[in-house]
Amino acid sequence: MTPLTHSSSPIEQIPETLPRTLAKEPPEASSDVLVVGAGPTGLACAIEAQKVGFKAIILDKGCLVNSLYRYPTNMVFFTTPELLEIGDVPFTTALAKPTRLEALEYYRRVAEHYQLHIRLYEWVKTITGEDGDFRVTATNRHGAICDYRARKIVLATGYYDLANQLDIPGEDREKVFHYYREPHPYFDTDVLVIGGKNSAAEAALDLWRHGARVTLVHRGAQIHNHVKYWVRPDIENRIKAGEITAYFNSTVQEIGDDCVVVRTPSGVLRLQNDFVFALTGYHPDFDFLRSAGIELSSEQLRPVCDPETLESNVPGMYVAGVIVAGSRTSEIFIENGRFHGKLIAADLSQKLGRGNPNVPLDAT
Ligand SMILES: Cc1cc2nc3c(=O)[nH]c(=O)nc-3n(C[C@H](O)[C@H](O)[C@H](O)COP(=O)(O)OP(=O)(O)OC[C@H]3O[C@@H](n4cnc5c(N)ncnc54)[C@H](O)[C@@H]3O)c2cc1C
Repeated sequence: MTPLTHSSSPIEQIPETLPRTLAKEPPEASSDVLVVGAGPTGLACAIEAQKVGFKAIILDKGCLVNSLYRYPTNMVFFTTPELLEIGDVPFTTALAKPTRLEALEYYRRVAEHYQLHIRLYEWVKTITGEDGDFRVTATNRHGAICDYRARKIVLATGYYDLANQLDIPGEDREKVFHYYREPHPYFDTDVLVIGGKNSAAEAALDLWRHGARVTLVHRGAQIHNHVKYWVRPDIENRIKAGEITAYFNSTVQEIGDDCVVVRTPSGVLRLQNDFVFALTGYHPDFDFLRSAGIELSSEQLRPVCDPETLESNVPGMYVAGVIVAGSRTSEIFIENGRFHGKLIAADLSQKLGRGNPNVPLDAT
């Protein structure tokens, strides 16, 4: 990965007393393609754009593959490693399914291999301008404003930053979390897990295995049938054995200091509670997409785009990865979103009149 640095002082303004080695190159703030989001899709888009001869810069508000970094610490993917590969870099793992740590290492290695121009901890706030001359403003972690220009934009901003809210009283209490990381802090406490899909089932099991007293509340009639095939019988058996208490067809009405109020088919219950994990899904930052001019479909909030090229209603601005599915976030994941880079690169080649999608730059 080539580090790109911002410097407020051009080299000639550096006082003679400072060693010349402190002088930094001005930032490479203009590019053919600017990719917003260094998730697996954003990386794949930059790689494919580079392969066909374009200069690509990636900005991310967090670390490299920020969403994967924020997964539960000991998470194991449901996908086998070859289906997470980007840029034709092989991904091999110790066991059949990759762990989070293996995936983080893999994507770091890919970024290094392709010497991607990635600027981390830069949060894109505005995109203005037009096809061929977009202006992008980001803020870095010190609050400084960083300006970029790009001929084309790719938005690959994912969905994991914004949790679906329950909109119930008490949701803003400090004991309520929308992300699950580790079980240890919850040993010997009363924990409520809300949800019935993978995240909720895995968190409930992990918490129970590490000594928490776990109650699961799900509005559906049973654990969701998309739950990983090795997790579903596990959670169902723990519930059958009474080791994890579960309320189905139920909803949490209120979260108090030391209790939660749950509406169940057999009445309203008040349960002792120390912590709540509301694992009810996440959604893309639709306001950000709209602010960039992207139109969203009325029901599922899918960005209006050409399915063959992924160019949106804003000429020169592409959408990629899970955001293409709007609110249907389980339709696109790494396995299929990783191919978006090739579609976009092919269109870039055609529109910018340079490169050949089938011939990498170093082969020409
Ligand atoms: C617990 C869990 C397990 C999963 N397991 C699997 C699995 O086994 N297999 C699979 O294929 N998928 C899995 N998924 C889904 C997968 O993580 C997502 O589909 C995938 O991360 C989407 O990739 P993406 O590049 O589109 O978005 P992301 O990976 O979410 O990347 C988006 C990036 O954009 C950045 N960003 C957002 N807004 C801005 C902004 N304004 N400025 C700058 N940067 C910004 C974010 O920081 C982030 O790094 C799992 C998801 C979860 C939550």
